[in-house]
Amino acid sequence: MDISYIINELGEDREAYFEAVAPPIFQTSNFASKTVAEMRYKVQHEEEAYQYTRGNNPTITILEKKVAALEGAEHAIAFGSGIAAVAAAILSQVKAGDHVVCTQHPYSWTHTLMNKFLPRYGVETTLVNGTDAENYRRALRPNTTLLYLESPTSFTFDLQDIPAVTAIAREHGCSTIIDNSYASPLHQHPLEMGVDLVVHSCTKYIGGHSDVMGGMICGSREKINKIFEDEYMTLGAILSPHDAWLLIRGLRTLPLRMARIAATTQQVVSYLAQHPKVERVLFPFLPSHPQFELAKRQMRSNSGQFSILLKTDSIEKTDLFCDSLQHFLMAASWGGHESLIYPVSATYTATGPKPNLPFNLIRFYVGLEEPDYLINDLAQALEKV
Ligand SMILES: *Cc1c(COP(=O)(O)O)cnc(C)c1O
Repeated sequence: MDISYIINELGEDREAYFEAVAPPIFQTSNFASKTVAEMRYKVQHEEEAYQYTRGNNPTITILEKKVAALEGAEHAIAFGSGIAAVAAAILSQVKAGDHVVCTQHPYSWTHTLMNKFLPRYGVETTLVNGTDAENYRRALRPNTTLLYLESPTSFTFDLQDIPAVTAIAREHGCSTIIDNSYASPLHQHPLEMGVDLVVHSCTKYIGGHSDVMGGMICGSREKINKIFEDEYMTLGAILSPHDAWLLIRGLRTLPLRMARIAATTQQVVSYLAQHPKVERVLFPFLPSHPQFELAKRQMRSNSGQFSILLKTDSIEKTDLFCDSLQHFLMAASWGGHESLIYPVSATYTATGPKPNLPFNLIRFYVGLEEPDYLINDLAQALEKV
């Protein structure tokens, strides 16, 4: 399907609302039926009916149809946050006694879900170095039901060879989930590579303006309908119609933003990669990166995130560099208009346990600013170190 068609027309029924170009926000909790027969149908086919907004809502449906089509999925289901989508997807694939294999350094709350929350319900997780797909195979147990991917991963931006991992899953009869937030639905199509469920934090690129939170699961109609009936209707982590509307608005400019971000990031990374005060840039689209060939094979383009290791063994110098940046905001998240840093040193405390990432690692997100504006800022901050 044509991307322009998906973004501008798919799912929109303008005749039904006075040819309004922007869809209405259906700010309603429930929908009436004219007859018992109609109500009976809606009650018994809630997954395809407008009966109650915890199930379906027309504004949210427009968003779901568009994201599903961008991912090449039959169907999609929206959530109130990315982690709600991650949690629902994982819960849909495990039961007490099951085992999950996951790549190391997943998104922090995914890690908490697997290592603190799921064990309470008898589900265990093994984290593996996902840069070698065979590590997934080595960690398999007879009760393994799910292989979980996040490629590239948060903070270290390691890739998993997606077709290789899904082949192992098929051999073993496991299902696969990937968190595709980094790539956005434009830069990587995991369903084509055999993944069962694709998850997004819509808070990031799909929203694109740092003003809304949301999540999405994409997959087959059968799998999504099952999630609808179980995790979706019972846990109730839904998106609001207004937030769906904001995400539809974000989608209108997604290709434009992603292209701009990809190009600026290449320039910023090239600058940092040659800088004597930078030890290493963690960015799979650098030709010197060990997974460069894999990145080119399974992704269409880079996005705006990468990390650097600053060449210093001093946490004070790392902090000084970060404090000196004037145009990169220091914040969690990414995917908006504004460039950001997330210094790992912020997770270090004098007495607490040592985090598993080095303090001189700084995650960057490149937004929509002019490249020189960002590079000049980096230059003056590096000068100070
Ligand atoms: C932010 C993020 C999430 C969680 O999304 P929220 O919308 O913050 O709940 C999940 N995965 C990745 C990779 C993320 O960056």
